[in-house]
Amino acid sequence: MRKLALPFMLAVALNSQVSFAQESQPAPKQPSSFAGTDSAEALREHVPVLPAVRAKYWNIDPAVGYGMKDFGNGVYALSDNGWQSAFLVTDAGVIVFDAPASYGKHIPEAVAKVTNKPIKMLVYSHLHKDHIGGSIAFKNTPGLQIIALDTVSDFLKEMNDPNRLIPTETFKTSKTIKLGGKAVELTRHNYHSNEGDLFIYVPEAKFLMAVDSVTSGYVPFQDFDLSTNFHQYLKMFDEILAYKFDNFIGGHLTDTGTRKDVEITKEYTNDVYQTVKRIHNSLNERAFDAEIAKTIGPDNEFLIFKALLDKVTRDSVAELEPRWINRLAGVDVWLPSHVRAALIYVRWDDKE
Ligand SMILES: [Zn+2]
Repeated sequence: MRKLALPFMLAVALNSQVSFAQESQPAPKQPSSFAGTDSAEALREHVPVLPAVRAKYWNIDPAVGYGMKDFGNGVYALSDNGWQSAFLVTDAGVIVFDAPASYGKHIPEAVAKVTNKPIKMLVYSHLHKDHIGGSIAFKNTPGLQIIALDTVSDFLKEMNDPNRLIPTETFKTSKTIKLGGKAVELTRHNYHSNEGDLFIYVPEAKFLMAVDSVTSGYVPFQDFDLSTNFHQYLKMFDEILAYKFDNFIGGHLTDTGTRKDVEITKEYTNDVYQTVKRIHNSLNERAFDAEIAKTIGPDNEFLIFKALLDKVTRDSVAELEPRWINRLAGVDVWLPSHVRAALIYVRWDDKE
């Protein structure tokens, strides 16, 4: 929870002299101060996707519903320009990495286009239904092994969701799969989903998949890709870059990536974090709270505190936006949420 000390002390000191509290609550002038993007007026305020990013959109045949790219050494990437997944062809069968809800049902036919080998294994990057909710398509695949983290499996058993098949093999921290002379290294990380995330690495193909980490060409999705652990998210970039890879899949949007995409998202994330930390830590909170209290009184601590968070957010966004608006797509869409995520970390987890 917030640091209550200062406004609380102010309230105690002033409460006996002046009461700003209302006997009965007047109706707020507006139902809510929340300004969403769901009006034509607000939507027109946003900038178009950067031309360099738009130029890399995959051509998706709507009749088929997905596109496919050959990364070499048996690795194929799939995408519908919203979600991304992959599979590996070996002499003894195929290993599928994720089955997005959007096009998962097409994965067996995509595999059949490039090999007549059977699908033998399905690996879950994490438990989110948008990435594995298409696994139902594999329900009748004979002898299919489904591999996931133990914590992911525990959650899925509890959830009992018919669209997410229960794993048949689990592990705690790392596992190397071998099939048809090829190896896949699976390693637990904790940058995104509460029950854990996998790095999926095919060394022979120099291919790395780390879902919901980096969206090549764009800033991360809301709140640093919905990360439940910003501390681990900050470490994730160096953990990715420690691998030797040429092709990268982050699980979303319109392009697969390279080391450069990981490096620029690392630079963006660190810039957001350091900027928020500097602005937050240099604010004189006592003076700020006293100034706010002049208008609304000292007793509405939630409102005083929200005003402080809003000031740090607004000042951080104002500084960061010009630095990034022409480097990554979606800055104007998600930067405020990134600043908020960093602010929560800076105020409650970080050292001074
Ligand atoms: Zn996810």
